[in-house]
Amino acid sequence: MTLQERMINELEEKEIFRKAQSYAFDYLDKIEEKDVYPSEKNLEQLQVLHEELTNESSNPIDILSILHNIGSLGTVTHTGGRYFGFIIGGAIPISLASKWLADIWDQCGGLYVSSPLNAELELICEGWLKDILNLPSETIAGFVSGASMANFSAITAARYHILKNLGWDINKKGLNGAPKIRIVTHEQIHASIRKNLILLGFGDENIEYVKSDKQGRMITSELPKLDDSCIVFLQAGNANSGSFDDFETVCEIANKANAWVHIDGAFGLWVAASKKLSYLTKGIEKADSWALDAHKTLNVPYDSGIVLCKHPGSIANALQATGDYIIYSAEKRDPMLYTPEMSKRSRAIELWATLKYLGKNGIDEMITTFHENAKKISIELEMAGFLILNDVVFNQVLVALETDQKTKSVLAFLQNSGKIWLGGSMWGGKTVIRISVSSWKTNEDDIQTTIELFKSAKEASV
Ligand SMILES: *Cc1c(COP(=O)(O)O)cnc(C)c1O
Repeated sequence: MTLQERMINELEEKEIFRKAQSYAFDYLDKIEEKDVYPSEKNLEQLQVLHEELTNESSNPIDILSILHNIGSLGTVTHTGGRYFGFIIGGAIPISLASKWLADIWDQCGGLYVSSPLNAELELICEGWLKDILNLPSETIAGFVSGASMANFSAITAARYHILKNLGWDINKKGLNGAPKIRIVTHEQIHASIRKNLILLGFGDENIEYVKSDKQGRMITSELPKLDDSCIVFLQAGNANSGSFDDFETVCEIANKANAWVHIDGAFGLWVAASKKLSYLTKGIEKADSWALDAHKTLNVPYDSGIVLCKHPGSIANALQATGDYIIYSAEKRDPMLYTPEMSKRSRAIELWATLKYLGKNGIDEMITTFHENAKKISIELEMAGFLILNDVVFNQVLVALETDQKTKSVLAFLQNSGKIWLGGSMWGGKTVIRISVSSWKTNEDDIQTTIELFKSAKEASV
């Protein structure tokens, strides 16, 4: 049999797809029994995978068996209820199921002609997102791999826009000799903004840092005088404390000065959908661009982020591409006009499915519940003698003991327990344990297990 004949057989028999499904269901069913983070012993077994690539092809059923029996030992169970590390989020069942279906379709989402379905769903999601977040009607959305690329896209749009207004076409003339763009932000801005500023040639030393307060918010009275050469970066959700900048105050100053305001709202911007928490996003509609993740607090599978921009012409010009073979659609949406990528995954499919499944009330309920769970954890830990170092305004809790050494000892105990996983960070010069509540699956039992583990860890700490 030729290679092609074998592959046709595999498609027709579907044995490998049934096998994959059965392994996947087995994984899902056992997820709460698995170690949240793989044990050393399990990680060692991954070494078996290191081998020379053979000349002969391998049996596809064996490949799935290796992935299931060995590969899955090295997975972290983000989709369970007791993973509190970083801000990763779980995956809502319909988001997985719809992505699974879409994987079979394997749509290239760059152009309308390469996937009309993806283009239509992007348009629908764009409208829904503007509605949920209460953003201006002219806002355009680009569907990217995550908030890093969303920030990247927004910065290129801002750069194009500002230079255009200063009489400089960056697409033609580039950066050499261009008018200076001022970058204004605060000390607590997320690393991905700094990374993107470096990537885009602005340089770390050219950033004008404003001081931030104890919660990690910009001290607005310290804002330097802004002008029409400024891009100001604010944050909806500090990755440690969860705090939100004062958008209203900064946007009003920036708007008067004709400066561009970008809000990095990777995990936090969704609070706009929560009746209880939307006060935190007051004034966001006055910004020029926003970055948002679907794969974090919305619990859509990786990878999925969104850039939103109030200046459609500027983002499309900044991310434009030309080529004789590119077929743009005159009247339809071409997704790649609003993203750095050309070929891309049709991630609007599972995003659409998730938004439709939850509805506005479901998003509100899920996002508000993250906050309520975080609050509950912080109150119980405080009663158990832990220090809580942040105001728990959203889903983040920063926990410490009297000494850094004790905090580190508790963190190591928790990480080695296999029952929960969370990371460490620094806050106000102290070592902290960072709890991020961002999975729909976390329930009361998970919270109690977590509290009990913290108590045991404290008793055992040195
Ligand atoms: C996670 C995060 C990012 C980066 O997003 P990715 O989806 O990992 O690319 C940027 N900003 C903030 C505030 C974040 O929490």
